[in-house]
Amino acid sequence: DPGGNVRVVVRVRAFLPREIQRNADCLIRMDPITQTTTLLVPNDQDPANLRSKSRKVVDEKSFTFDNSFWSHDTGDAHYATQEDVYNSLGEEFLDHNFEGYHTCIFAYGQTGSGKSYTMMGTPDAPGLIPRTCEDLFERIAQAHAETPNISYNVRVSYFEVYNEHVRDLLMPVNPSQPPYYLKIRESPVEGPYVKDLTEVPVRNIGEILRYMRVGDASRTTASTKMNDTSSRSHAVFTIMLKQIHHDMDTDETTERSSRIRLVDLAGSERAKSTEATGQRLREGSNINKSLTTLGRVIAALADPKQQGQHSTPKKRGTTPQRDAVVPYRDSILTWLLKDSLGGNSKTAMIACISPSDYDETLSTLRYADQAKRIRTRAVVNQDSGI
Ligand code: ADP
Ligand code: MG
Repeated sequence: DPGGNVRVVVRVRAFLPREIQRNADCLIRMDPITQTTTLLVPNDQDPANLRSKSRKVVDEKSFTFDNSFWSHDTGDAHYATQEDVYNSLGEEFLDHNFEGYHTCIFAYGQTGSGKSYTMMGTPDAPGLIPRTCEDLFERIAQAHAETPNISYNVRVSYFEVYNEHVRDLLMPVNPSQPPYYLKIRESPVEGPYVKDLTEVPVRNIGEILRYMRVGDASRTTASTKMNDTSSRSHAVFTIMLKQIHHDMDTDETTERSSRIRLVDLAGSERAKSTEATGQRLREGSNINKSLTTLGRVIAALADPKQQGQHSTPKKRGTTPQRDAVVPYRDSILTWLLKDSLGGNSKTAMIACISPSDYDETLSTLRYADQAKRIRTRAVVNQDSGI
């Protein structure tokens, strides 16, 4: 189904030590049959009850998603491991890449909700990015053995958007030089792209994981220096897969190119400009721009009027209005992800939530609920007779 909806899944993490220390309540329930996520409304959300000692649940809000991943307590029969998340989302998206479709998976949620854990993971519990890389090269090895007339070409890039600047995470940082930012250009065929971004060819799992770590370290190094960059920056890991099929009989060559985008967004709490003061305000006005614009882009794409325009057959002589009203160009991130959000891509959003943060979780669930309505139109990217 090329005109598919954005796939939206939710994942709730375990308590962190600080939450255990303050005796936090888990405000999340998930139903494994209906894939419903329910947020319990504690009575202390009502200012009148703030001083009350007993925290009671007074209401609940339910949302249904493509998946609700319960990663709160390992003892639960429905506990979703890193492998479970990969098996129910990553694997299928990699299938699409081999079919020739572009894909994008992005993680959304407040700082500390589990975005990096889900995308990158830890050495003991690798996340979607390393699992996708591993599966990719396993499939290539298997295809090589079975169909020797297909050759594969894999390249990788890794950049971050920080403060409306694009930084190449695969470029070594020279501490004695001012930070080096890349410019964005737009090509009529490929759309917006990062000019001069490092794109390295990779031949095996070892090489791609090494670049993944190099880029990740570059992001982390900057974060200790600039005070928590990773919660303020959007990291975009991209794998370009080219499959060249040579037909022995006709001597014809067919090329399929697909792009795998894996995005770890800045903490969603950054979207609230009212919280920013002083230095944070100066930085924030820019940092928030990509995130607030993402919200506006999602709202515009989810608008039924947009969907209507999209599905009605074009009248002769009218130009499509769809892109004109979606504010992609208002931020670096949305401009670069234009295709992934409302164009030629199969796209998924992983909404990461903390178990006991009522306000942030409600806002994330509402955001995710809206994203469900977005439709993209992916096509197989294939060229013949080269
Ligand atoms: P974010 O990237 O959204 O700021 P992190 O991924 O860094 O959040 O997660 C915050 C903390 O919670 C980390 O210590 C991480 O290891 C832990 N964590 C997150 N999700 C899980 C999970 N599903 N299982 C176990 N630990 C998790
Ligand atoms: Mg993170």
